[in-house]
Amino acid sequence: IGVESQDGWTIDAHPIHGAAASTNHPPVGSSFRTYRPIYFHEFVANHAARKRYWARSFLGWTNLNKSKPNPAHRAVADLGRLGYLSSVITQTHPSLRTLELHGYLRSAVCTTCRTEYDRQLFQNDLAQLNPAWSDFLNEMLASGALTTENPDERRRLGLKTNPDGDVDVPGVDYATFRYPACPSCLAKPPTDKDGKRHVVEVDVDGAWLAGNSTAGILKPNVIMFGESIPDTTKVAAEKAIDEASRVLVLGSSLATYSAWRLVKRAREQAMPVGIVNIGGVRGEDQFFGHLSTGNTGKEGLRCAHILEEMLPSLVTELSQRSTAPLTASAMARPFVPAPWA
Ligand SMILES: [Zn+2]
Repeated sequence: IGVESQDGWTIDAHPIHGAAASTNHPPVGSSFRTYRPIYFHEFVANHAARKRYWARSFLGWTNLNKSKPNPAHRAVADLGRLGYLSSVITQTHPSLRTLELHGYLRSAVCTTCRTEYDRQLFQNDLAQLNPAWSDFLNEMLASGALTTENPDERRRLGLKTNPDGDVDVPGVDYATFRYPACPSCLAKPPTDKDGKRHVVEVDVDGAWLAGNSTAGILKPNVIMFGESIPDTTKVAAEKAIDEASRVLVLGSSLATYSAWRLVKRAREQAMPVGIVNIGGVRGEDQFFGHLSTGNTGKEGLRCAHILEEMLPSLVTELSQRSTAPLTASAMARPFVPAPWA
């Protein structure tokens, strides 16, 4: 489902009578046109880029962390409970955590040892390492600039938020921002692939230092542009498709190749594809070219509706039916609702 959430960032998933995928890469909403996301290689290679990323993330986290599931998300959970979904594949939304193609923003992960750290605890560390920024954040929170849902009001207060939850603050020097090293790598630097011990240097407060450091860089636990999806995630998503009988894409343009590829995979197995999305969808001719003129929707369906309105009414309609939609074998694997459901 891909849904525009209240705080203006895009969530997509593709519930599928079978599976659902979600993608917010790249953002397609017109309001995000000026936003350029950070690339994986840039983040890993460049200390200054990381300072900038974590500074913006530090300011945006409080707001992003509050984003709540909307009626469309709840409806997808309901469809699962009713037995209409065997799997849901999502991308990036921090709480829609069924099969996340692109990771989640709730944790930071070490690029060396892969240890994961709770994003809120990491946030506390960032606040301690950056007292001036922390004060600034508190001021903005107090002014309401970070909490208003109105983008015009936010802009008036000098704030611009991009889809990853970062805040652009004009005139702020990102070079002053400090971020911690991976505590695990710092305590016991691991060895590299040649058996040589890594170096992790920090300043007196524990902030990661460029120069001699070769490890212990923390990154958000999301798949960035230019970064590949872990094989285990890829395989799980493909399995969800293969076990499905049909695929429903909700609110995604399938702009991300990894998401598009899953739908293509379903079509290659002759599964009917349904897509609900306002706006164009990548290569959609390939998914609907085979439809006969008498198609009633069973062979495939393409429509444009507002998901927050359409899905809840669909749930109401389907709730009144008595027949179990899924086969016994499909129901044998119980649907696991997202944590917020
Ligand atoms: Zn580490």
